[in-house]
Amino acid sequence: MKKVSLIGATGSIGMQTLDVIDQHSEAFSLVAFSAGRNIEETRKIIAKFQPKLVSVLTRDDADRLRSEYPSLAVMHGEEGLAAVAVFSEADILVNAVLGSVGLFPTLQAIEAGKTVAIANKETLVTAGHLVMEAAEKQQVQLLPVDSEHSAIFQCLQGEQPRNIERLILTASGGSFRDRSREELQNVTVKQALNHPNWSMGAKITIDSATMMNKGLEVIEAHWLFKLPYEQIDVILHRESIIHSMVEFHDSSVMAQLGTPDMRVPIQYALSYPDRLPRSEAKRLNLTEIGRLHFEKMDTGRFRMLALAYQAGKAGGTMPAVLNAANEAAVAAFLDGKISFLQIDELVERALEQHTLIVHPDLETIQQTDKEARLFVHSLL
Ligand code: NDP
Ligand code: MG
Repeated sequence: MKKVSLIGATGSIGMQTLDVIDQHSEAFSLVAFSAGRNIEETRKIIAKFQPKLVSVLTRDDADRLRSEYPSLAVMHGEEGLAAVAVFSEADILVNAVLGSVGLFPTLQAIEAGKTVAIANKETLVTAGHLVMEAAEKQQVQLLPVDSEHSAIFQCLQGEQPRNIERLILTASGGSFRDRSREELQNVTVKQALNHPNWSMGAKITIDSATMMNKGLEVIEAHWLFKLPYEQIDVILHRESIIHSMVEFHDSSVMAQLGTPDMRVPIQYALSYPDRLPRSEAKRLNLTEIGRLHFEKMDTGRFRMLALAYQAGKAGGTMPAVLNAANEAAVAAFLDGKISFLQIDELVERALEQHTLIVHPDLETIQQTDKEARLFVHSLL
């Protein structure tokens, strides 16, 4: 029995993780979890999974839960998030929280020697160097949950990293893949949230439409698989059937395929190195699909992808600025404060005004993250 702690339990990845735990209650149990503001869902999770520790965002909500469940340990805020991440009984942490708020609990979990299944890409983008360094030092395994990185991880089982020629990340193109930049002038939040292939949280759905999601994933892949940016490519693949590929020196290409369902990579991370059945999953039927399509990425059209490569290659604090500015800009778009194309603009300006710090420690990263958000807010 693997004991799981989960941060971000009330989100899209969090709920699908709970689904996997529920479907394999013989293999997994939930011992601790965190939520943000969704207390209704938090109550349901407590009732169903009977965990020992729960953390929520605010003190008021924590007080309320404490009085409702006297035998349950309840915490709140960043301290609570970290406590769930290092909960002593847990064997593995699933990080499904949204945004760079996931960085500190991840570092804490690694320090405590926990295996980390990581969905939260903003953490690796913000401070991949700190996370990878800590994981190596503690001999802790980081297991990818993001579908592209899980695909690459699966393709690399039994392979020697020295034989990799390049990684090929596939991108669905998001909600606006068939529109030109001119046609994006007046798009609405509702249109942007309508992803053709995946049902996900609001922020990542917008990131998919701007192509920042793929930019963040390129940086995530750079850290997870220890490869230079020159060896990481992106191609457009609208069906989201091939989740990503690895090309080796001998010209052989390995790909991982499946119907788009995040519960597959979540379950693989939880059961790794074993696999468990997913009897209710929709099976891939290639003859039904008939054709798969691939197109070259147009970085003029998808400027955010080019910006992410630039920030990644610059290294140091640049990716932290890219991520924090994007988080602030996407939140402003979702709030109706800016237009869709202004997301790109704000991120670009935040990167331009930042003076690179080459080897940032945690404090410098946190400060940089805060300043980039303030910069974006000052322009709203
Ligand atoms: P959601 O917005 O659906 O969920 C986010 C979760 O984090 C919720 O549980 C939310 O709590 C919690 N949360 C948000 N802000 C805070 C905070 N400040 N403190 C504590 N908890 C907080 O996001 P997704 O599930 O879509 O994405 C989560 C991560 O996984 C992201 O990094 C995303 O890029 C990545 N990912 C997601 C995929 C997907 O299919 N959704 C695919 C691949 C990667 P509450 O709702 O209770 O307020
Ligand atoms: Mg992905």
